[in-house]
Amino acid sequence: MMKLNELLLDWYDANARELPWRGERDPYRIWLSEIMLQQTRAGAVERYYARFLERFPDVFALADAPQDEVLKLWEGLGYYSRARNLHAAAKRVAAGGGRFPDSVEGLMELPGVGPYVARAVASIAYGVPAPALDGNQMRVLSRCFAVERVLKTPFDLETEAAVCLDRARPGDYNQALMDLGAGICVPKNPRCADCPLAPLCRARALGEPERYPLRPAPIPKREEPRTVFLIELPDGIAIRRRAEGGLLGGLYEFPSVEGHPDQAGAEALLAELGFAGVCVVDPLPSAKHVFTHLIWRMQGWRVRAERAPGGVLAADADGLRTRAFPSALRRYFEIALELADSHS
Ligand code: SF4
Repeated sequence: MMKLNELLLDWYDANARELPWRGERDPYRIWLSEIMLQQTRAGAVERYYARFLERFPDVFALADAPQDEVLKLWEGLGYYSRARNLHAAAKRVAAGGGRFPDSVEGLMELPGVGPYVARAVASIAYGVPAPALDGNQMRVLSRCFAVERVLKTPFDLETEAAVCLDRARPGDYNQALMDLGAGICVPKNPRCADCPLAPLCRARALGEPERYPLRPAPIPKREEPRTVFLIELPDGIAIRRRAEGGLLGGLYEFPSVEGHPDQAGAEALLAELGFAGVCVVDPLPSAKHVFTHLIWRMQGWRVRAERAPGGVLAADADGLRTRAFPSALRRYFEIALELADSHS
């Protein structure tokens, strides 16, 4: 019987997805696509990838850009630490002459490049025989081998991954597993009848492919009540920049606090934050945003104030549109734009 890598590559040669970064050999472009593809579907990435390349055609252009512009172009892709690391890595590569490292170890020294991205880039750009184990690969391989261990990290499948890897075409092999995991061996209702690996898949033979991979019990998400203030100052809507390094670091936001105060409590809190001449006008719609380990349950107040404390800027509609805000605040961002437009 044919081996897994042979079945997989035969299928890939006839069925590879058409994606803008396919067939690419430029490590800059491969790295960019792989960073964007982390935790994001390929369909959603295509638009961002094209926009980034249009604005930053090479690593020097990206390295020279202001961080605000990089974050703005990233807006909507989420996980903003990826964008900050992308920028930092570009600066480092550009400072070293513009050539990307050609080994897994060298790539992993770049900010934001973990084992998966390093192996994907090394295998696709340089033909390094390294299996790139992401969620898709883990799902496919754990099913093919009916792995009965709980898989906490991709390294728990290193042995199986090393056995299956195609050493002559490691980049195509890795991309083939990505495609198979994205379109055929999907988490729910895998399409085993269309799968090239069906002849050797043990989970299929056992009749319960969805049982794999075995996973540890999920950590419950923490719920956090938050209140968002859309504060109309005499010259615009109050915004501030979140501290670098933390959740949504470096992005802009509207002043907010933890908890759900009533109107009087909101006024007192805003005075404590240093706003002067505060008048809380109306409640705003509620909103919810789910992060990896956290859920924000947000309420909002529309507020007028005469003066803001240091660190708070007043933005008009253009000032709002040209800054990067987290998608968690999309609902309040849209209301803020309407308010700012009504003043202009
Ligand atoms: S046969 Fe089914 S379970 Fe096995 S790899 Fe293919 S799609 Fe996945």
